[in-house]
Amino acid sequence: MPHDHHDHPHHDAPPDPMTERVRRLEAAMVAKGLVDPAAIDAIIETYAEKVGPKNGAAVVARAWTDPDFADWLRRDATAAIASMGYAGRQGEHMQAVFNTPREHNLVVCTLCSCYPWPVLGLPPVWYKSPAYRSRAVLEPRSVLAEFGLELPPGTRIRVWDSTAELRYLVVPMRPEGTEGMDAGALAALVTREAMIGTGLPKVPKRVPAGVPS
Ligand code: FE
Repeated sequence: MPHDHHDHPHHDAPPDPMTERVRRLEAAMVAKGLVDPAAIDAIIETYAEKVGPKNGAAVVARAWTDPDFADWLRRDATAAIASMGYAGRQGEHMQAVFNTPREHNLVVCTLCSCYPWPVLGLPPVWYKSPAYRSRAVLEPRSVLAEFGLELPPGTRIRVWDSTAELRYLVVPMRPEGTEGMDAGALAALVTREAMIGTGLPKVPKRVPAGVPS
């Protein structure tokens, strides 16, 4: 499949007209004192780290708790995800890749920064860095170690290169000790990094034995 990134700019191409327009508008508003750049940064941060990934976390938690949905997600991720209301630009063609004890999935865009906006929001800065884009393919195990993720030696790492045609969502394995948790509680364990493949879901806090809950 050709790695086609036509619907957003390459790092070495000039920005598309809309990006350029937004950039100029922001500069003009800052110059006139209409907006505080720190406030804009805070909004972007919110979309990148909170609003966006919450959608993906809801998809993952539902897949963990609803086998029929998990099947659908495996067969037609675009439709399954859209059924939850998460659709739109940069998410038109989705594929869900499921981690197993034998195989761990890692997502990159080697040419630019293709990323599934409807489920993950805006890509983190490191996702767009040349170092991540090249090293995720060449030495994924070292990259994961730098993210603090040491996989068992027997676990294979499969790297998926995102394109304008196809964006990937990693469905991590459900952590142990989460039996009895509902989808809402499970979603809170699913981090953005877990859905890119550079991390794992959070482990629920254990209630010490003998402490009434
Ligand atoms: Fe790209």
